[in-house]
Amino acid sequence: MSENMPQMDQKDLDYFESLLLEKRRELVASQAEGDARNQKDLGSGLAGYSNHLADTATDYTALETTFDLQAREGKHLVYIEEALLRIKEKTYGVCKVCHKLIPKARLEAVPIATKCVNCKEQVKKKERDENRMEMARAFAEQHRMEQANGNK
Ligand SMILES: [Zn+2]
Repeated sequence: MSENMPQMDQKDLDYFESLLLEKRRELVASQAEGDARNQKDLGSGLAGYSNHLADTATDYTALETTFDLQAREGKHLVYIEEALLRIKEKTYGVCKVCHKLIPKARLEAVPIATKCVNCKEQVKKKERDENRMEMARAFAEQHRMEQANGNK
């Protein structure tokens, strides 16, 4: 954005790039494993379908949970790709809110972080406040509707 934007040292960028590549490799491997497992479960589930109706229901719940997990992991993969892109653009490790360098300890814990802890907390707090306001609005609206219906 401006020439005042801080930038991580190249050796740090390299370090986090290898960290992210490693995470991506793990994630892709676990996803492939999950796919193989799902296919196997589906097969055995169908084979025992007629005499194990209750079991099958449980199987499907487990299956859905696995899919949810995979959807989350899929999103995580997108975050990793984005982080790798930021490394190439040398904007990685800079908080996108306050434009200060994110402490390395935080990036080691959360390599896909785009905000420093302070800014993340503030965004979260803002979201919470907005949710509360949204709920209050919905509640007021519901109350108004009930009043209107009651007056009919
Ligand atoms: Zn910040």
